[in-house]
Amino acid sequence: TGIYHSLVQLGDGHKIPTSANLDTAAFVLSQFPKPDQAESKVAFIDTATGHRVTYGQLQRSIYSLATGLYHGLGVRKGDVVFVLSPNSILYPTICLAVFLVGGVLTTANPLNTESEITKQVLDSGAKLAIVAPGEVHKLVSTKVPTLLTTSHGDRGELSVEELIDCCERMELPEARPTQSDIAAILYSSGTTGVSKGVLLTHSNFISTMTLLKWSTYKTSANNDVFICFLPMFHIYGLAFFALGLLCLGATTVLMQRYDFKGMLEAIHSHKVNNIPAVPPVILSLVKHNGGGCDFSSLRRVGSGAAPLSKELVDMFRARFPWVQLRPGYGLTESCGAATLFLTNEEAKAHQAGSGKLLPTFCAKVVDYESGVAMPPYQEGELWLKSPTVMKGYLGNEAATAATIDSDGWLRTGDLCYFDDDGCLYIVDRIKELIKHNGYQVAPAELEAILLSHPEILDAAVIPLDDEEAGEVPMAYVVRAAGSQLSEDQVIQFVASQVAPFKKVKKVSFINIIPKSAAGKILRKDLVAQSKQHVQSK
Ligand code: AMP
Repeated sequence: TGIYHSLVQLGDGHKIPTSANLDTAAFVLSQFPKPDQAESKVAFIDTATGHRVTYGQLQRSIYSLATGLYHGLGVRKGDVVFVLSPNSILYPTICLAVFLVGGVLTTANPLNTESEITKQVLDSGAKLAIVAPGEVHKLVSTKVPTLLTTSHGDRGELSVEELIDCCERMELPEARPTQSDIAAILYSSGTTGVSKGVLLTHSNFISTMTLLKWSTYKTSANNDVFICFLPMFHIYGLAFFALGLLCLGATTVLMQRYDFKGMLEAIHSHKVNNIPAVPPVILSLVKHNGGGCDFSSLRRVGSGAAPLSKELVDMFRARFPWVQLRPGYGLTESCGAATLFLTNEEAKAHQAGSGKLLPTFCAKVVDYESGVAMPPYQEGELWLKSPTVMKGYLGNEAATAATIDSDGWLRTGDLCYFDDDGCLYIVDRIKELIKHNGYQVAPAELEAILLSHPEILDAAVIPLDDEEAGEVPMAYVVRAAGSQLSEDQVIQFVASQVAPFKKVKKVSFINIIPKSAAGKILRKDLVAQSKQHVQSK
């Protein structure tokens, strides 16, 4: 039939809950350690302060904040709450408290500029913003009521910390969210165009949590220590660290953001066993010497969000022979991982693979031209179906219809094939998306900025391979007649308007942007041209 099914089952004790009246917060809280263990079991250790939070403390904070949000700030079911903060122990508390009152979470990268943030706040219809003190200035023009994460000086603005301190747990609303309600709006450019709000339901998250719990339970020993530097605003960090590991009663060593030295110190001093990572982090571990870091506690390193080359896998295994390296693949639109290797042996047997379908997932590999579902070893676009697949894009029926077909298949925009064992190999990206250190960069967004320059007639942005970051944005630009615009001026023009990871790194001037008869930019031609250019250098 051309459909690939997961070869493993969830099995007893790991069913996805079917009760309609369940929300993500109620589900996650129900998985917390029992009261007699909750007061001693540490959920998070903050590397910046050494501060530890037990599951018992976390639970009280979540209920207190939910009380403050509901009774103090009037957050009601369906209200969108915008969160802008680096990782912190408060982040999971905020997510779960928002869910508990039926709010809808939308998160953003704190590196985003004021205009990028304003766009998201307006698009999502946020009623409240919860913001780290250093980022507040980016929200002033939105006029959305703002709650700080932590108390700051004498500005007098209310903070999450204060709400937690002053609110006794009170009765929460009767109107609880159901599984089919929207829990979060995360932003992704999908297969084409600018960033769109990915509507994820409580059912999507509860399914993802169940899969994560099952797969981690299958592979990790109790008392494992995880390290988190992946950003919690992205689905990988949100699903794994802000929600998922709490369902396992695990301990997470938390970093505000990634920094290589800080990661080594944390691994060494907290005897970390598990590193959910992205390819650039794995490259750093391989390339740099450990500076005296004791890596002997490490047992597992995961990789996702971007392609991991076979060469890097080989180098990693040679450098860390005792560590299991287990790649996976997923996307925001599937609310996290779709494939994963459950054992080191499986990963070793399929070196360039991205894992096997998780339970509940089906896949098709669809030939772009004929629409035919392909057998093993033949390439096509990966289509996925599972209870974790998003509801659609916020306020964009056309994009939703172009991404999810009437049978519920999600088009991923990734070129892939399966082998005989059911292992997935990602070959290339068909969609426009550029991935810089695992972060999304939408070419359409940069092209719109370039076109706003009075001396630029036309522009196209493509990914350029980069050893450290995976990919960097490169621009092809058509200058207006007589314009002397330089590469540096173009780079600066874009840099002043976007988050640092979206900066254009290279510019090539061209007479005409190649386009199809329908006016679509022929990006593959430009990518081929950029590769020729690099080779001929
Ligand atoms: P995001 O929604 O930001 O998580 O981005 C999802 C996209 O990242 C996927 O559609 C892929 O293009 C890429 N991606 C994620 N995991 C992998 C992987 N293991 N190998 C190759 N590309 C990946």
